[in-house]
Amino acid sequence: MSDKYTQFVSRGFGRDLAGKLGLPRPVELRRYKAGDPLIPGPVLVLGQNGESKGQGAEALAAELVSWGLDVRRNALPKEKLGAIVLVLDEVRTPEDLEVPVLTAARSVRDLAAGGRIISVSRTAESATDPAEAAARQGIDGLVRSLAKELRDGATANGILLGSGAAPQSPGTLGALRFFLSGRSAFVDGQFLSVTSASGRLPGDPEKPLAGKVAVVTGAARGIGAAIARTLHRDGATIVAVDVPAAGDHLAEVANEVKGTALQLDITVPDAGERIIRHALERHGSLDILVHNAGITRDKLLANMDEGRWRSVIAVNIASQLRINDAILASSELPVAPRIVSVASTSGIAGNRGQSNYAASKGGVIGMVRASAPLLEARGGAINAVAPGFIETEMTARIPFVTREVARRLNSLQQGGAPGDVAEAIAFLASDAAGGISGDVLRVCGQNLVGA
Ligand code: NAD
Repeated sequence: MSDKYTQFVSRGFGRDLAGKLGLPRPVELRRYKAGDPLIPGPVLVLGQNGESKGQGAEALAAELVSWGLDVRRNALPKEKLGAIVLVLDEVRTPEDLEVPVLTAARSVRDLAAGGRIISVSRTAESATDPAEAAARQGIDGLVRSLAKELRDGATANGILLGSGAAPQSPGTLGALRFFLSGRSAFVDGQFLSVTSASGRLPGDPEKPLAGKVAVVTGAARGIGAAIARTLHRDGATIVAVDVPAAGDHLAEVANEVKGTALQLDITVPDAGERIIRHALERHGSLDILVHNAGITRDKLLANMDEGRWRSVIAVNIASQLRINDAILASSELPVAPRIVSVASTSGIAGNRGQSNYAASKGGVIGMVRASAPLLEARGGAINAVAPGFIETEMTARIPFVTREVARRLNSLQQGGAPGDVAEAIAFLASDAAGGISGDVLRVCGQNLVGA
């Protein structure tokens, strides 16, 4: 559903009025459109000395030049910047942060609308020295705070390098490109972890999923339909899965994306085998699996009944575990697919009236972390995306006042679009995210409460 308030206060009289009354002034976000520039202006790359010196910063600056971007080592006075990339992979102590961070600070006001600030640093867990761990963990608080200070649809996010990854690893470059682009419009104050140097940047950045076969569950409507459309736009062949009762809508989506429809209740015991058989028989491959189908049956826990509890667990998590088991056990799949599961910020921060749903979505996160090594051993990967407030039929049913509060309580002061979740999934499903596995990316505009 449309957010008329955001449209009203985005321009002219509405913008002035909201300013005078001190009301939230969300802006229309810079979202990906084919053919648009990657970022709305030059990119300033800062290394540890406040210039693009240092191995990591120099390697990343050279890569960004090869993408055709206008790269700066020093900001020019009054020049609008599309992005600031802070390469902090060599910090050893908290004091090391001062020069690069305060150099970046001088350019924050020059960031264009929809601009990006992206840090590249190493995980605190991979540090052995306490001072080094402190410096690295400090970047987490820094980036999340900065994200809350930015305006006009600008965002701040970070890339964390594990001991097996470098600034120029494919996963780092893939994550950097995702964060810079309009594909990450509703991702704010978040980190992606690159754990290995595997992965591959696509030959054509506009068709990163060319030649892939992607199965999307719950594809008849809402976020699932948006995922099917986005993966198709990026070049994938789609198998759209939903319950028989949603057959008409499912057929419409499958026709629109020139894919095939599979009417299937994912809770049946042989759902995994049927998905594999359909993908192989109709399309010869299964490269991507998106576990999107999900339901809510909200009640306070004190009023919870067996039916509500059981159905939510069955659809949202038990079915995913069973389908993944079938994939891992299959002798027909030469390599395991890249799997992306849809979790929820309710599964991270909790949500009143959603104990069953939050248990299932927290379960998705646990499953993803534990399944990552199993899938990697078979050439695949698994990650989760945790949406916050997304404008769908599900959230349109929330009473007006609760809905209005829920959609404003994030750094971007608005709900996300189904396509925002789909963009994050398309990235995690691509070979460019090859070095990323077992990770959870929130697409929530940086929820201010809880998560
Ligand atoms: P939706 O209700 O609009 O769509 C869900 C789809 O899943 C429907 O088409 C439904 O028929 C299908 N489905 C349900 N049970 C199924 C089953 N047993 N087998 C096959 N298909 C089944 O929901 P949505 O808002 O598009 O949500 C999609 C996913 O995103 C869900 O996992 C949801 O929990 C998650 N999510 C949504 C939001 C939000 O704000 N809308 C926030 C966080 C997470």
